[in-house]
Amino acid sequence: MTTVTRFAPSPTGYLHVGNLRTALFNFLIARKRGGTFILRLDDTDPERSKEEYVDAIKYDLEWLGLTWDRVERQSERLDRYAEAADRLRAAGRFYECFETPTELDLKRKKQLNMGRPPVYDRAALSLSDAEKDALRAERSGHWRFLLNHDRIAWEDGILGAVSIDAASVSDPVLIRGDGQVLYTLASVVDDTEMGVTDVVRGSDHVTNTATQIQIIEALGGHVPRFAHHSLLTGPQGEALSKRLGTLSLRDLRARGVEPLALLSLMARLGSSQPVELAESIDELAEGFDLAQFGAAPTKFDENDLFPLTARHLHGLPLEAVRAEIAALGVPDEIAGRFWSVVRENIGTRGEIAEWWALCRDGATPVVDDEDRAFVDEALAMLGEPPYDADTWGAWTGAVKDKTGRKGKALFMPLRKAVTGRARGPEMADLMPLLQKKPG
Ligand code: GLU
Repeated sequence: MTTVTRFAPSPTGYLHVGNLRTALFNFLIARKRGGTFILRLDDTDPERSKEEYVDAIKYDLEWLGLTWDRVERQSERLDRYAEAADRLRAAGRFYECFETPTELDLKRKKQLNMGRPPVYDRAALSLSDAEKDALRAERSGHWRFLLNHDRIAWEDGILGAVSIDAASVSDPVLIRGDGQVLYTLASVVDDTEMGVTDVVRGSDHVTNTATQIQIIEALGGHVPRFAHHSLLTGPQGEALSKRLGTLSLRDLRARGVEPLALLSLMARLGSSQPVELAESIDELAEGFDLAQFGAAPTKFDENDLFPLTARHLHGLPLEAVRAEIAALGVPDEIAGRFWSVVRENIGTRGEIAEWWALCRDGATPVVDDEDRAFVDEALAMLGEPPYDADTWGAWTGAVKDKTGRKGKALFMPLRKAVTGRARGPEMADLMPLLQKKPG
């Protein structure tokens, strides 16, 4: 059977690193097995779903290279959900309830006070037709799926054997009083009708999975393989939920994180395989193995993304940045030399422009007071560009002879005067790129 996976975000916000984990795992499984990866927008909530988030989700995934084979929108499939609801009704697995949120809350509190789990008591099942009619006149009912009270078991791709007592779970509400179809039903109908074979999602969905398995079976569908990855925490094990806003993919992009750095980390974090910088998404797909992931919460430290980003940039050939460099105005003849000098000295792509500004316009010299006279004297000995590979050696040699300075005392003040910084590329390599005389 061809593998079909899906990533199913609700377009109610921007994607963050937690969502990315789910998207990536599903994507890699499909790619590794030559299957299909569906982007499914869970947009049945008309109030919270926004088109701008749909666009942002697509933009983020494209930025990362996580391309989908097909997009599906739940808002366009409402008739399918209504049809499934009818079938559940006909099978006696769907019942109408009328409790208000306040009443349900009260019931839950009572149960908790009595030390019992807050499971819905199925009171609505004993309503007579007359009672239901009377209630319907007051408010519209919501619909619950009638769980079979047996154990629901599955072999989880990450957690191993999982089994949940259905009696410990409330019959899930699948249609709200206002008629809105809820995720639990919509997701099951989609997974079944779209032939989804593998569902990877966060471990916050484990209970959903249990109820969804029964719904799938009630609808006569094929139960996919389920796997639940652990949730991310901060580096100290602290909950990440509050900080996820600042860990959105668009923020990380703005901070210069490279897609392959992010993907390389997320494809391995929480698994027994070491994090290695991959050269391509195909390489990540090739080496991806869900079975290597553990159930324990996974520590995520955004700072790990920056060394990986820098390493990725250091390894990029000119071709990968040629257009970008040309757009900055770097002349074609020196593009290759410019890139080989600069790539080792940048942490993010944005810094390429800083180096070009330095080459084109010169830096604001940094000169310590005690070096002022020395630097002035040295600069007076430097001719006008163009410079070549010998310029630095010849210039510093002449300065050494004239001033008697050598080693660090000779080179460092000149480096700082020319580049405005204490560290950077080999000066002999940098000099030929300077378009203006420093100083
Ligand atoms: N829209 C759901 C969510 O974002 C999808 C969960 C699932 O993968 O089934 O949590």
